[in-house]
Amino acid sequence: MPKQIISASEMERFGYCPLSWYLDLEGIDAEGDEVHSGVEKHKEMGDSLKSLLVEEEKSRETSTTLMTVVAMIMTLVTLALVILLISSDQLRQNLGFILLIIGIGWMLVASFFLYRLLVSTEKVDKLREDYKLGETDIETPDGLTKETPLLKSIEHNLAGRPDYLIKEDEMRIPVEVKTGRRPRAPFFSHVLQIGAYCLLSEETFQRKPAHGQIRYGFDNEPHDVKWDSDLRALVLEKLEDMNDILKGKTEAHRNHKRVGKCNSCSRRKGCPERLDK
Ligand code: SF4
Repeated sequence: MPKQIISASEMERFGYCPLSWYLDLEGIDAEGDEVHSGVEKHKEMGDSLKSLLVEEEKSRETSTTLMTVVAMIMTLVTLALVILLISSDQLRQNLGFILLIIGIGWMLVASFFLYRLLVSTEKVDKLREDYKLGETDIETPDGLTKETPLLKSIEHNLAGRPDYLIKEDEMRIPVEVKTGRRPRAPFFSHVLQIGAYCLLSEETFQRKPAHGQIRYGFDNEPHDVKWDSDLRALVLEKLEDMNDILKGKTEAHRNHKRVGKCNSCSRRKGCPERLDK
């Protein structure tokens, strides 16, 4: 099989059923309305998070420009007032008035930047509220910051892009957002996927994240998944299984006897091992 790099989302598929993952590699696409609506919702969220980061960057730049303009106005006005107060010379008095008028002109420029800053801050606040992000410092892997390219591990033949990363000093906590109802405990396949992101985050940023986070929608409390030695061992074990299949050492098969699982599987139509009712 030509494909070499395994992605974290493939690990999710493998965690659901190894055969589902293998069928996808063989070109059997997932079917069903939920698949399409899930992809749409994910895209919408990705776009919103990107625009949040763009707005935050814009807001920072506007704020810096505004500060510079205000400092300039203060300098001009102070200079003008000093000249007007201490000088009786007509020429200097005129210069004082000119500086004062220039200062007032720059106040209009400052008002424009202030307006832009307010609009930008309002957009940022709304997006942060929509995504229940609070004051969390986040990054997306889409390259707004150079520190977060596609996360890759040569050693483990793994790559992936979590939906976003929470920045805590040097540590990056990967976050994966899932559509659908929040379960009491996260699904095994989702835990495997977030484990893969934790492994990638640890290798990329050289700092072990304390946990990964799975969010089932933004209105619910997220699940924190501890990144400990057990989860690490599980991720490495499944990666080895997947690599063995890719190398042709073993084959992918259904690993369960749950009819319900096959009934909900988006690849059941093209699956030779599906269980029927
Ligand atoms: S139909 Fe069942 S056996 Fe086939 S891929 Fe889906 S879950 Fe696995």
